[in-house]
Amino acid sequence: MQAKLVVVGSLNMDLVVNVAHLPRTGETILGGKFASIPGGKGANQAVAAARMGAKVSMIGRVGQDGFGKELRAGAARDGIDTQYITVTGQEASGIALITVDQNGQNTIVVASGANYTLSPADLHAAQAAFVDADVLVTQLESPLETVSEALSMAAGHGLQVVLNPAPAQPLSAELLARVDYLIPNEGEAMQVAGADTLENAIDKLLGMGVRNLIITLGERGVLMVTAEGRKHIPANPVQAIDTVAAGDAFVGAFATGLAEGLGAEAAVRLGNAAAAISVTRRGAQPSLPMRKEVNVLL
Ligand code: ADP
Repeated sequence: MQAKLVVVGSLNMDLVVNVAHLPRTGETILGGKFASIPGGKGANQAVAAARMGAKVSMIGRVGQDGFGKELRAGAARDGIDTQYITVTGQEASGIALITVDQNGQNTIVVASGANYTLSPADLHAAQAAFVDADVLVTQLESPLETVSEALSMAAGHGLQVVLNPAPAQPLSAELLARVDYLIPNEGEAMQVAGADTLENAIDKLLGMGVRNLIITLGERGVLMVTAEGRKHIPANPVQAIDTVAAGDAFVGAFATGLAEGLGAEAAVRLGNAAAAISVTRRGAQPSLPMRKEVNVLL
């Protein structure tokens, strides 16, 4: 069964510089090569899913500028339906300033721009995308009221909901109870729950009505907390050179597996494999693998 997804989220141009070490406060360093690469958590997850074979419609917004044109064209090249990625003259396209050190560690500053003008009304105008999908994938790089409306529309159309709560902020029980799969990394889990340890975060999130918690643990893989209990699924051992978009590779592939009708654990294994390949390559979208490559690894 072909996966059909609707992704509500951000498109950013990533402005990336490789550095020997991440700059400290007040420090100026000379970096290496510069590259501008299409990114944004929403677009990355949409591309990750499309390369895994999903039919993807994306709802988002870019500015009336060169970056906006490139971002829409890039998504279309990956076969994503871009008719609901609209253009605003009010704000610049979103950008992210990224530094990556020799160990693949990174720092990221996002200027959301046009992404923060995506409104509930834009979702209503894109109703057809919900009608034709099985799974909604969304993140927190769009206004929270828009994310919340996306969850309501997903419920209205019988879609499963995957929320990657990044960048993290505390979320209400009312919102969390409408999510089928919450996929944070460790730090995000603690921030969303307002907890100081991962254990407390898990307890709090379950108490707030999260049905399935899929916590990504970097090179240690994933901790699944579902109605069946807890299960640790190890990562695929690889030599990481750049972890930008590892989480996005995971979420896009996981959601594709889910929409194909795989169980949660099989979808996690698909996500782990896609993310493992992505950390062996530089950049956000250029690092996202095709299904064929993931099948070979599996
Ligand atoms: P984020 O990028 O959102 O911070 P993580 O760092 O937890 O998320 O990584 C997401 C997923 O990417 C992990 O669950 C794992 O599957 C994969 N991954 C990340 N780092 C590595 C690594 N060094 N080796 C293999 N897989 C990795």
